Amino acid sequence: MRDRTRKNILVAGGAGFVGSHLCDALLAGGNRVICVDSFLTSSPSNVLPLQEHADFALIEHDICDELDIAEPLDQIYNLACPASPPFYQADPIHTMMTSVAGTGNLLKLAAHHRASFLQASTSEVYGDPEMHPQREDYWGHVNCIGPRACYDEGKRAAEALCFDSLRSGQVDARVVRIFNTYGPRMQPNDGRIVSNLIVQALRNEPLTIYGDGAQTRSFCYVSDLVDGLIRLMNVQPNAGVPVNLGNPSEFTIAELADMVLAMVPTRSTIVHRPLPEDDPQRRRPDISRANELLRWEPKVPLAEGLAHTITWFSHTLAEQPITPHAGRRHTPAEDATELPLGA
Ligand code: NAD
Ligand code: UDP
Repeated sequence: MRDRTRKNILVAGGAGFVGSHLCDALLAGGNRVICVDSFLTSSPSNVLPLQEHADFALIEHDICDELDIAEPLDQIYNLACPASPPFYQADPIHTMMTSVAGTGNLLKLAAHHRASFLQASTSEVYGDPEMHPQREDYWGHVNCIGPRACYDEGKRAAEALCFDSLRSGQVDARVVRIFNTYGPRMQPNDGRIVSNLIVQALRNEPLTIYGDGAQTRSFCYVSDLVDGLIRLMNVQPNAGVPVNLGNPSEFTIAELADMVLAMVPTRSTIVHRPLPEDDPQRRRPDISRANELLRWEPKVPLAEGLAHTITWFSHTLAEQPITPHAGRRHTPAEDATELPLGA
């Protein structure tokens, strides 16, 4: 007889920033974890320490290709997808296929194993929102032919696949809409705002603000997000609706840059760069649904989460110094398309 409290859990994208923290938490909960990742936007070092763990297995695989797993699976988390705008725009067709074909493949696997399924969707499904804060019943304002469409529309299609699989009785599918999340193990070169500002400050380089810095985001620390993901996967019954997870405290990008300047001893100053096309002007989650269904709310305030993240980056950069351009790790896509850092 299998111990039903110990689950066999597959985490696609488990070597990534959020995925590796999720693998840690699931192993700490006494589960077996199978991490599936192509290492497109992550470093194997995120899960290197876990390879010593008897209950951890790592499979290098692109979810755009079908996947068979012989051992039984109870749950599948799908976090596999580049999340940073420069990374997901580097090979937009592969990004779209990761969300559509990749999610389709994992849903098939879930149906075969009768495993519950959690899809990591995104606040980007709301696009440049006209409703503020964003509630789950808002249908969004997305440019379906713009440079962010490969990510936004791919994630929207993946949500549709999940809800069709649920409605047809094939898969116990759950969908989380994740708002901007930060913390240790973000790639120093992935171009997102928190990693860019901290790395720039630690290197005494100018902090890049795109546009005038009046656009807003709401930043969630990774441990809060992981707690919410696990709650949503396990809540019974499945409410059958998407759930926002994020920290509702909203900051302008200029305020965030000022916080980083105040927290890192640095000679950096601020420079302004052009605002990327279709950059959302504001974003803040309405988390009343998560609160009601999961009894969830974030606990880590931005200043505290930033302090942990700054400490981690300062150790990481000291161990593996990389220069802004020459030392960047190249994804397969970037071999064909060179991107300026965070452009
Ligand atoms: P990340 O880039 O660190 O992690 C993504 C992981 O997926 C990486 O390990 C990458 O190598 C892997 N991957 C990408 N494409 C793959 C493919 N085709 N096959 C197999 N593996 C593949 O990003 P993250 O911030 O950890 O995001 C994790 C998930 O959460 C993503 O699905 C992202 O869309 C979603 N999300 C994250 C945020 C955030 O702020 N961090 C916000 C909204 C949504
Ligand atoms: N941004 C910025 N400087 C940077 C990186 C990002 O001003 O070096 C801005 C970006 O234009 C956006 C916000 O910060 O308005 C958040 O960007 P990020 O890429 O982290 O996430 P997303 O746009 O997907 O929310």
